[in-house]
Amino acid sequence: MAQQAMPAASPNSPVFRFAPSPNGLLHLGHAFSALINQNMASATGGRLLLRIEDIDLTRCTDEFEQAIYRDLQWIGLSWEEPVRRQSQHFDLYRQSLETLREMGLVYPAFLTRGEVKAHVAEHEASGAAWPRDPDGSPLYPATDRERSDTERRKLMAGGIRHAWRLDIAKTLAFAGTPLSWQETGTGAPEVIAADPSAWGDVVLSRSDAPSSYHLSVVVDDALQGVTHVVRGRDLYESTAIHRLLQVLLGLPEPVYHHHRLILGADGRKLSKSEGSTGIAALRNEGFVPADIRRLVGLGVGL
Ligand code: GLU
Repeated sequence: MAQQAMPAASPNSPVFRFAPSPNGLLHLGHAFSALINQNMASATGGRLLLRIEDIDLTRCTDEFEQAIYRDLQWIGLSWEEPVRRQSQHFDLYRQSLETLREMGLVYPAFLTRGEVKAHVAEHEASGAAWPRDPDGSPLYPATDRERSDTERRKLMAGGIRHAWRLDIAKTLAFAGTPLSWQETGTGAPEVIAADPSAWGDVVLSRSDAPSSYHLSVVVDDALQGVTHVVRGRDLYESTAIHRLLQVLLGLPEPVYHHHRLILGADGRKLSKSEGSTGIAALRNEGFVPADIRRLVGLGVGL
């Protein structure tokens, strides 16, 4: 398979990245995202990095990671080596969490998923809706945010499992300035007002994983010098949290480009468990890489 020739990149070249999680097989949506990144990198003389976002050690597997390399190579993607694997950098994400802890902006969160669910159900039983984040999940209740330091220390000393959450109201007051990001995915470049409070007290490190998507993504984008974050529209709203974390941690601001999603026959976002639109499944059925480009609406050679 002929690989697309990449123009030589200079030290000031734009840097793009494709950042899949190895918790399932890649589908047409991933192919589209990877190819758009490659197209934009090659059109701007930029570099393309591949990052494996495998912080969820229970759901990510080596087999899925190997399948990612196989599928991406097959569709004609080329990326720089070495590939960054997030599971090898937990210490770094812990350091950033520590910085936020020293700033007094995070708190230990002890409620289990079941306890949150019960809390929300009890509230909603009284007829009042509980606020939800842009993904539809209930916002984290105030219970843990309102605990005293003495109480927190006691619970932690008792070995109660806990996550760390950002105190969003306190953090926004601390950050001061209104937040925004530069978006190029909607046609003409525009400045989007960011509303991190819509996410409530987001989790930055889980009891079962030493980081969260939000924290590790901003740390790595900065560390890898990513200048252009090109990803699906499903992550558009998350950008508000990413901008907030970048401001708090003094990290540079990339340009964001949120592209359209590839939808299934039912009009819904593709999921990793839907075999029929999987890249490997299509390959096994006899499709060739040019078919994949056509299926996602990218002409051959684009
Ligand atoms: N790892 C994320 C995913 O697979 C993508 C992260 C990003 O592009 O910011 O959905």
